[in-house]
Formats: sequence, structure tokens, C-alpha cells
Amino acid sequence: MDSTTIHVSQELFAPAESSSFAGVFAPEELQAGPDTYTFKDPLSWNVLVSNTGGALLVSGTVNGTGTTECARCLEPLEVAINGEVEGYYLLNAEEVEFEEGEDEEFEVLGEDNTIDLVPLLEAAILVDLPLQPLCREDCAGICPDCGVNLNEQSCDCAQKRAQADAEFEEAKNPFAKLKELNL
Ligand SMILES: [Zn+2]
Ligand SMILES: [Zn+2]
Repeated sequence: MDSTTIHVSQELFAPAESSSFAGVFAPEELQAGPDTYTFKDPLSWNVLVSNTGGALLVSGTVNGTGTTECARCLEPLEVAINGEVEGYYLLNAEEVEFEEGEDEEFEVLGEDNTIDLVPLLEAAILVDLPLQPLCREDCAGICPDCGVNLNEQSCDCAQKRAQADAEFEEAKNPFAKLKELNL
């Protein structure tokens, strides 16, 4: 079960106060660019919420394992996740003078005094995921012609392709015909 909401207690409204929170996050799936991640087990998170005077700073970690496909061979692949959670929530936003455009950079603590960690957790996970998930650095991928997994099997498609290319080049060469005439 998810536990991704922090209820900010009254003590935390005093400057320099801080409290630790922990819980689990079980997203059904996460989309990271072209890659879809699923999670066999919930991810665990730990954060410290500190009152910096006028704002609550949320910082911590989210850890677990995601499952996706290797970008080259499409085999299932597990990726360790160690994300850094970070958020900043203004208290008493009505007292703060915003510069133009600045208000978009900060969240304001809601009237119910809760913090929804889901956007922070998702952002932390997405930043930590690899740009291109690979089962191994030198994954050979799948053959574009016959579709075998080249890590497990070899095929002669590359060789055939090279040969076909060579024949095509030769056919384009006008001197090839002269050679056939055997002058
Ligand atoms: Zn692979
Ligand atoms: Zn092949």
C-alpha cells in the first residue's frame, strides 16, 4: 500500500524544527522517455522535513528496483533506483513577494498542511534512471533482418547483407560489364 502523503505537524511550523518520515511508493508504471518501468516491489522512501524559516525543505532518498526492457535486445532488465528527493514548500505564501515568474519555482504548502510526495518521488526516480537501459554495456542487440538475439545466437544476415551490397555496387560500375566481355 502506498504511503506518500506527509502530514505536517504543528511543531514543524516553528523555525529550525525538523522531522523524519518514511514510507513506500508503489507506482503501477513509470514512463521514462521511450522506456516503461514497472515495479515488482514498492519503492521505499525516507525524507527529512526541515523548517528553514518561511519554508519547509524536503530532502531524502527513494530506493528500489524497476523492471524495463534492454533498449537493444528487448530482454527484461532490472535497474536499481537510488534517487534523491528534494522539494521546497513555502509557508504563508501570501506574505511572500514574488518576482515575476518566480512563483512557478516554488510549491506552496496547501491549506490542509499535507505534502503530496508523489511528484517529488517521480522526479527523483526519473532523474536517476539510465538514458538508455542496457542489459550490459556491449549488448549486441537483435538482428534487424531475422530478429535473433545476437547475444545468444549468431546469424549470417550481416554477411549476406555485405555481399548483397558488394554485388549492387559492382552492378552499378560500368566497367564490370566490360570485364564480362573479356576483351
Ligand atoms: Zn540487451
Ligand atoms: Zn539475422
